[in-house]
Amino acid sequence: MKVLVAVKRVIDYNVKIRVKADHSDVDLTNVKMAMNPFCEIAVEEAVRLKEKGTATEVVAVTVGPKAAQEQLRTALALGADRAIHIETDERAESLAVAKLLAKVVEEEQPGLVILGKQAIDTDNNQTGQMLAALTNLPQGTFASEVEISGDGSDKKLNVTREIDGGLQTVALTLPAIVTTDLRLNEPRYAKLPDIMKAKKKPLDVKTPADYGVEVASKVTLLKVESPAERKGGIKVASVDELIDKLKNEAKVL
Ligand code: AMP
Repeated sequence: MKVLVAVKRVIDYNVKIRVKADHSDVDLTNVKMAMNPFCEIAVEEAVRLKEKGTATEVVAVTVGPKAAQEQLRTALALGADRAIHIETDERAESLAVAKLLAKVVEEEQPGLVILGKQAIDTDNNQTGQMLAALTNLPQGTFASEVEISGDGSDKKLNVTREIDGGLQTVALTLPAIVTTDLRLNEPRYAKLPDIMKAKKKPLDVKTPADYGVEVASKVTLLKVESPAERKGGIKVASVDELIDKLKNEAKVL
């Protein structure tokens, strides 16, 4: 079974986001970029399926600028077999990405597609769901456990999902779309020899036009502002003091 994994290049989660002086966008000058953390979890899950013998091939795909090949090389170092880069300098929105991924699904015919539940730059949380709608494939979103049973064309997929108030397990037929939640696994670090080997793995470069998909943004970004600075908290010595402050300072009681 082939597993397709979608990975996105985003600002590294450790970086404190800066806004450009003219408020036109987030400032990306000299900012460390990385693979979206939920996509790292997606790659890890695909690689584990391969190690178990459930998956036979892991293909990583990204839509983004030339530099996004760094994240594909990371996926290859972590264990993906080959990669597809759909190159664009446009700010591709979820629907455009989902349309491109749908074309890749059509071409590659994977048994399973794994995406992150959300990209930490825009927090959209919609590409996987849109891809499921476009491909008419079943979806198991916010996965905290993925279990594949059965053999050959008789494989079944159980996805345990993190939902408000608990866990829900859904049984899906394959091919299917899964989006990863934080607790699905703990991604490994790439080892130096694997990083070297990854440089030689196949990486196909395509354009949105190759798939007949228009990626120009339909949304106009008007202004970006940093959130208001939060005031530091204080420690109170007793419950009485807390109640007093809630009554007389915060005036919420
Ligand atoms: P989003 O819906 O934008 O929050 O992203 C959810 C997931 O969709 C990400 O974790 C990726 O797996 C996938 N995705 C989003 N944008 C891209 C992109 N430009 N290239 C590849 N995968 C993407």
